[in-house]
Formats: sequence, C-alpha cells, structure tokens
Amino acid sequence: MVAPRRLIARLRETMAVSAAPLAEIARLIAAEMASEVCSIYTLGGGEVLELAATVGLNEAAIGRTRLNVGEGIVGQVAASGAALNLPDAQNHPAFAYRPETGEEPYTSMLAVPVRRAGKLRGVLAVQNRTPRLYTDEEVEELETVAMLLAEILPAQAAAATAPEEGLGGAVARRFSGTALAPGLAVGPLLLRGALAAPERLLAEDSAAEQERLQRGAERMRRRLDRLLAERLPEGRAPREVLEAYQLVAADAGWLERVKAAVRSGLTAEAAVHRVAGEVRRRMSRLADPYLRERLADLDDLAGRLLEALGAGGLPPVVPAGAILLARRLGPAELIDWHARGIAGVIVEEATPHGHVAILARSLGLPAVGLIEGGGAGAPLDGAGEGELAVLDADEGRVILRPEQDVAEGYRRALAARSAEQETLRAWRDRPAVTADGTRLRLMLNIGLPHEIEQLAVTGAEGVGLFRTEIAMLALGHVPEAAEQAALYARLMDAAGGREIVFRTLDLGGDKLLPGAAPAEGNPAMGWRSLRVGLDRPAVLRRQLQALVRAADGRPLSVMFPMVATLEEFRTARALLEGEARRVVRPPARLLVGTMLEVPALLWQLPGLLAAADFVSVGTNDLMQFLFAADRTAPALAGRYDFLSAPMLDLMEDLAEKAGAAGVLLSVCGDVAGEPLAAVTLAALGVRTLSMPALSLLPLKALLAQIDLGEFRPVLAAIRRAASGGASLREPIAAWAREHGADG
Ligand code: PEP
Ligand code: MG
Repeated sequence: MVAPRRLIARLRETMAVSAAPLAEIARLIAAEMASEVCSIYTLGGGEVLELAATVGLNEAAIGRTRLNVGEGIVGQVAASGAALNLPDAQNHPAFAYRPETGEEPYTSMLAVPVRRAGKLRGVLAVQNRTPRLYTDEEVEELETVAMLLAEILPAQAAAATAPEEGLGGAVARRFSGTALAPGLAVGPLLLRGALAAPERLLAEDSAAEQERLQRGAERMRRRLDRLLAERLPEGRAPREVLEAYQLVAADAGWLERVKAAVRSGLTAEAAVHRVAGEVRRRMSRLADPYLRERLADLDDLAGRLLEALGAGGLPPVVPAGAILLARRLGPAELIDWHARGIAGVIVEEATPHGHVAILARSLGLPAVGLIEGGGAGAPLDGAGEGELAVLDADEGRVILRPEQDVAEGYRRALAARSAEQETLRAWRDRPAVTADGTRLRLMLNIGLPHEIEQLAVTGAEGVGLFRTEIAMLALGHVPEAAEQAALYARLMDAAGGREIVFRTLDLGGDKLLPGAAPAEGNPAMGWRSLRVGLDRPAVLRRQLQALVRAADGRPLSVMFPMVATLEEFRTARALLEGEARRVVRPPARLLVGTMLEVPALLWQLPGLLAAADFVSVGTNDLMQFLFAADRTAPALAGRYDFLSAPMLDLMEDLAEKAGAAGVLLSVCGDVAGEPLAAVTLAALGVRTLSMPALSLLPLKALLAQIDLGEFRPVLAAIRRAASGGASLREPIAAWAREHGADG
C-alpha cells in the first residue's frame, strides 16, 4: 500500500507551486495509487459536474463530459456524498456511458466526493483495468487527498466554468424522508455541515501534536460534563440518554485511533477527520439501527473534539424560527441547539429508533430524517446558510427555498395549529366519549421517566404501555433491583393513582443494549424479549422484584411482551406472583396481562383469556408477523394497512371473545393513536386505546364528533365490498370527511 503521508506531502509540494494544474495533480494521484486512470470532476453552476482533468481517459473529453448531480457513478457520489467502491463499475445500475471518454477498458472504480466546509466542490475518481475492490486504506487515502484537493478546487472550478452560484440557485427543492418527531417549522436554515475542514494536514512536530490532542480531548470531556450538569432543562430532557453518551465519550478505543493517526504524522484535526471517515464507513455497512446510532454518537464527538481543538464552533445567535440542518447529530448537540432556541431539525442520517429521534420527541422539536436522501441528493449540498426552509415533520417532508405561496401556506398552518393547541387544551379534563355516548379509555405509551409529565398535559387516564426497555436503553444498562424500584416508584408517585401498565424488558430485535450485538440473521424473530427473560430468569426476576417493591402495597399492572405460547405466559405470571409473595407489602391488586404480538396466540385464546387479566394488542409487531413484513424496512412502510379486511376481522373476533370472557382488551400499537384506525377500533368494540402523547387530545376531540351507531353499518358495508386484503382506508376516510371528521 502507498504511504498516504508520502502522497500527501508530494501533493502539498505540487500545490505550493502556484496554480498547480489539475492535470499535474491527477497524474500524481494516479501514480501514487497505482491506478491507470485518475479524473477530477468539478461542480459548476446548475448542478453539473464537468470533467476538469484526467490521466488515462481521453483528454478530448475534458470540458466536454458533463454529468448532472445524481447521474452516473460520479453524479451518484456527488448526490449521496459517500464514496463508491466498485469492482465492476460498468455493470453498476448507475453507470452512464460516455463514449468520448474511452473508459471501456477500465473495470474497477473508486470515486469520492470533494467537499469543503460541507459543500460539494467536485468528485475525484480512480480507475483500474483489473476488477478489484479497493481496500479501506485506499478509500481513506483517496478521501484524505480529496480533502486537500478541496482547498484548491473552487478557484479552478470558477476558472473552468460559469461563475459559481448556490447549487440549484433559487429553485425550490423538495425532499421526502422519515418523520422522527411531529410538527411544523418555517424559518431560516442553520447549517451544521460536515466537520470543518482541517487547515493543516501534516504536523510539524508529532510529539507536540499528541499533547495538543490530549489537551483537546480533556477539554472536550470537561465541556460535556458541564453540559450535563448545567444545560439540561430541569425535569425535561432525558438525562439518561446524555449519560449513555458520556460513556461513549470516555471510550478509550476511539481516542486511541485518533492518537495513532497523529503518530502517523497527521495534525490532530486531520486525524479526527480520518477516524470520523472510518466511523462513517462502518456506519454505512451496519443494518442495525441501534448500532448505527452509537456510531453517530461517535461522529458527533468528532465535531466536539474539533471544537475543543479550536476549529469550528457553534454560532452564538440563533435566528427566530431557525431550522437546523445537519448531516448527523448527537444527543448532546441536540440538547445544545434546543437550548439555543431552534424550531426544528433536519438530519440527513437518523433513524426513528435513534437517540436524536427519542430526544426530539421528548423535547417537542419537529424533526425529519432523510435516510434515503429523498432521491434528489443530499440537502446539505444544496442549501445555503440562512436560506428559507419548510419542515413538515408530520409528513416527513422538507422544502428548501419554498415558493412564496407555499411558505405562506405553511405559516398559516403553523398559526392555525397554535390556535388549535389552545382549543385542544380544553379537552384535557373532559372524558373521551363519542357523539353517541360510547366511553373510551385513552392512555399513554411512554418509555422515558420524564414523559410521565404527559399525564398532566393530556389528561390521559393512565399509562397503557410503559416500555421499560427504553428507560434502560437510555441508561445504557439494566440497573440493580433497588435502582429500578426507585425509578418505578417515582413513576407511580407521579401518576398519583392512575394506572401504569409496566411492560417487562422487550430487548432484542431493533432494541439492543451496548455489547449485545445480535448474532442472529433475523433478530425480530430471534432470542429476544420474554424469551430471554424466561431462559435467563435472573434479569427478569430482578425486574419483577423491583416492580412489586416499587408498588409497596399499591395496585400494580404488569404485562409481558412477545408471548408466543400460553405456557410462556403462565411461567412468567408465576415468576411475578412468586416475587409478589416475597415482599412485606404485596400489591393491593395485581393485574397480569399479555401483549398480543405473536399470531400463534390467536389460536390459544380460550386458555389465554382464562389465564390473563388483560390483553394488549401490539399491532406494530402483530402486523409485521402477520404480513411477514419487517417493520423497520423503509421499502415496506405503508405496503400493508391495518385498515384492511384481515386485521379488522381479527380485531373484531378478538374484541368479541375478550368481551365474552370478561377480559379487558386494549390496543397499544401505533394504530391506536391514528384517527381513522382508532375510530374503526372503537366501532369494532375496543374500548381502551394507548398511544403517544401527541395523538391523545386530537383523538379525544375527533371521537366527540363520531356517531359509532351511524359508522358501524358503513364500516360493515366497506368490509363486505373489500377484496384481496387491500387497504380500506380511502372509503373509511371518505365517510369521515363527509362527517366533518377527517382527523
Ligand atoms: C407493538 O409491537 O405494537 C408494541 C406496542 O410494542 P413495540 O412497538 O415496543 O414493539
Ligand atoms: Mg412489540
């Protein structure tokens, strides 16, 4: 492998000679990387990449070969901002043939984006005749070279093409992504771009640089400790998430890698970049959302370390209504920005299961993740600081430079919404009753301790689902019984006698504690949740003991997740009752329930209804197992609808049987908070619905307009007319609209 230090040093010498032609640079890179081709594409106006220099391809193509951002492999690299490493580039689906280049003989290709301060400047590519996958070291090396090249590309590009303008000029651009936390925002963009590019790559004195890095790392840790001690809004932000993040900050392995890069001759800043690049590459290969988030924390730390080293920094003033646009964002940073007064967040890489999403929801900050890039390239590349943007986090939509009418429309919607919030508050103390007098019990789904405040905000009748594993994930570990008991007792105190249904640990699948990497190919159906609890009862018993201790003579409700057999439920129930017998003051009343998430339970109903005090349907998992559709796969989102004949038949049958057995039935999957699904469930006989806090008041207001007696025959007719298991949403929505209740 070529020593990057030598290539970088030679490049520096070449660039020091004033206005080093790009061709010279391309030649040097090709020679040092043992590539037959090296090409440099520069970004001009109108999102067009132009071949500016090449060795190996036809020189006649220079200035002629042009690709739009998103077009061809080079265009894809520009759009995604990520390297493409292809052993067989010409058979890649994105390959765009350009006969003038004469690139037919070259099979393998490695292309990396050239960016400066988060802005795309061009693309750098090498090609070889023999099919080969470039090594991680080579990818890193080319990325490091691209970093250096970025310093001179703007001047070259300006000379070669039309005068530079903001990418896409004043044209509106739309992106669709994933809603992480609901809400709307309209305001100027604040860019928290890629890490600030290092000014120097090579250190003059390695030992001195090591010391500087050490001092920077200590400063970073002190600042983080201060942030945790001083900046968290009292009682609001989940301190636990931040504490887990601090553990990552203290991870010696990460810092060791940065130190090693400094020892190889890089400056501390360049070393942080190098390691952050590695982290990003590892992240892009990981399917597990929780592990990806852990690495995103590391990426956030890279930004903090650069700041502590004196590079970059946060702007002191945040304009009113500002929307933060970041490639990645760590939890500490989100808390920082929230305290500074931002109105919303767009994160290019975030998942709904991640820390940022959990935090944004609990801070009430609208947030959208653009995991898929929205098909129109990465927004950071096209956005300018201070430009207007619309963030529609309800729909997972982002509009950069919206048309005036569109922006006005959203501003009106925002104003209407705050008026609506005022009106909704009036519903807090009213019961949930339909127009024809059916009483429903609306409860909350929560998982972080501070979310218990939502009981007072929404007037919910209790917590229908407390996901204990979320509290543990935020802590980063499962605490001892005494600590757990204190946590549960605090929750019960805060609930003031309202029921909290504690669900025992539902870890596994997409919810993993650090160090618990799944070895299974199919973790959602693997050794998870209650299965682990029953096979390794120590942890489950510790939790059950904590729950009965916390109740301290008060009533207690506990339910078990992922129950697949009646036998599993009976065993779990016996464990709980055993713990309840062992405490001095057992619960005044112990209600033991099961989640219904595994379809097999549907064929064990007589026994189950005799054994359980209540059943809560987890439609998120039940749907994924019934339709064999991974709930975390973006490509399947929305393909199968709860409002379809199979699900509605199932729910109706269940409601009937539970009613006949006198067993309380509730639904705590996400559909319970969706207006149309909730109304449909009510029509089918479900009386308890448990949902995220934001859904509760709007649903209560909606139910008051619904006459179930009128809706039931309409629903029956819609179901009779259904065929093929398709969605019934449209006809149900049409009825709701006609009755002025479209949710
Ligand atoms: C469900 O599966 O519907 C459910 C409520 O549990 P979770 O979303 O936590 O898996
Ligand atoms: Mg579930």
